[in-house]
Amino acid sequence: MEKIYVEKTASRGIAVAKIYKYEELDLKPVQSKILEQDKEGQINKFLDARECVRGELEKLATTNEIFSAHLEMVMDFTLEDSVKSKINDEADNAESAVSEAISEVAAVFEMMDDEYMKERASDIKDVGKRLMAQLKGVSLPDIGSLNEEAVILAKDLFPSDTVKMNTDYVKGIITEEGGVTSHVSIIAKNMDIPALVGVKGILDKLNTGDIVCMDAGEGVIIISPEEDVLNEYRQKKQEFENEKQRLKKLRGNPVVTKDGRKISLCINAGNAEDIEKALPVKMDGTGLFRSELLYMEKTHFPTEEEQFEVYKRAAELCPQELTIRTLDIGGDKKLPYFEFEKEDNPFLGWRAIRISLEMKDMFKEQLRAILRASAFGNVRIMFPMIISLDELREAKEIVEECKRELRGEGKAFCEDIETGMMMETPASVILAEEFAKEADFFSIGTNDLTQYLLAVDRGNKKIADKYSYFHPAVLNAIKHIIDAAHKENIKAGMCGEMAGDIKAAKILLEYGLDEFSMSAGSVDYVREELLKLTGAV
Ligand code: PEP
Ligand code: MG
Repeated sequence: MEKIYVEKTASRGIAVAKIYKYEELDLKPVQSKILEQDKEGQINKFLDARECVRGELEKLATTNEIFSAHLEMVMDFTLEDSVKSKINDEADNAESAVSEAISEVAAVFEMMDDEYMKERASDIKDVGKRLMAQLKGVSLPDIGSLNEEAVILAKDLFPSDTVKMNTDYVKGIITEEGGVTSHVSIIAKNMDIPALVGVKGILDKLNTGDIVCMDAGEGVIIISPEEDVLNEYRQKKQEFENEKQRLKKLRGNPVVTKDGRKISLCINAGNAEDIEKALPVKMDGTGLFRSELLYMEKTHFPTEEEQFEVYKRAAELCPQELTIRTLDIGGDKKLPYFEFEKEDNPFLGWRAIRISLEMKDMFKEQLRAILRASAFGNVRIMFPMIISLDELREAKEIVEECKRELRGEGKAFCEDIETGMMMETPASVILAEEFAKEADFFSIGTNDLTQYLLAVDRGNKKIADKYSYFHPAVLNAIKHIIDAAHKENIKAGMCGEMAGDIKAAKILLEYGLDEFSMSAGSVDYVREELLKLTGAV
């Protein structure tokens, strides 16, 4: 028996099952240089393989948005140019050219600071696998053929692998690579499969058929457990399932304070799919729609039309409030198609609203798209990283300008759309009373607010023990923001991680927070805590 502790939980839950080791096919290219007269043939071989992959992805894209992004990647002209130039200029065969070109694109993503963007390398590698399998005339292995309960063990799992997973048989996932924002993590969470990712060296320790117990919430894997441990984990699993069922029954119960105030429980989403997947938790709306993910997934700034389609779908899915935050890039979030100047302090640099106000045409495309989507649901606009009244006024004035244009064009939108702001800078706290007079709502971004108030980088592991939203300075700031909002009769929400922390629920409720917005997986737990605190259960 061996016990392994893992740092990162991708998806909570407990599993007791045999390992199914998902072995990768050998898709290494056959290296050989080609003759001049064979170049055209190799280019055609690539184009034919790409056509087949396009067909596969078009079918898959109807079931899962991830594959639309893959489709864009495989048809991207820079990939095509790169493959062609390797064949033409370096006399590579099609297999080598594709393999090289894919590795180069993946390396660009892997070098990015942002966790989310780093993970996009796995998308391009997934596309590469499809192309290589076509070129070699082989079929990719299929998790869908699994017909007994198992914990899947793999180096990494790609969307193509996970899309076919059947939850009747896949009881857990362990990967050696991947982070908590990787697709495998997102999909595991959505499918409610316990998952641990980035477990270094695990592939050497386990083989198909080995029995494991895993508690993904605790970050524990037990290899070849003894009988009493097996029983202990079976019991834990049962308790975990019972707990989930119990929490599910509370869905739909409104949270109302003893003095009759309704508290909203909302989700944070990165795309329309997140909203769709979260609907069963019966949230009261989307308190934070991080629009930057749409920009990060593209190979160009998304057009007004592209954005409109996404926001409209989100608005239709989420009949209650949908708070779309305008582009929040910079800091650790970069765009693969846009050159950012190197900055000594990117978190104190050119980011969020600062970029939007400077790149006005781009900002207007986004605002027009959001406004048009407001004809399809209860959409609100939220500006990130505001530090001055001038910024808020300028942003609001651009909203008005977009409204005038849309009116002139006869395009529908909600005239009374609310415009609010993230409260995540020290300046916004100090000026909260002034801001409350001009903003329609506040949403407290504790992730940034904590780092800026305490001067503690939110991503620096070395000082992670100093990063705490329970620090009295942060708590005082939160109280001050909520009081300022209420003085002007506007609502104060919170969309930073603190809102999803049950340990914070009591104090936030006491402070008078109106809306808690969090990842969908936390809603059941926070709801229960708030119902307990308000005496409803
Ligand atoms: C925050 O800062 O708390 C927040 C919600 O925004 P982000 O994490 O996207 O910076
Ligand atoms: Mg923030």
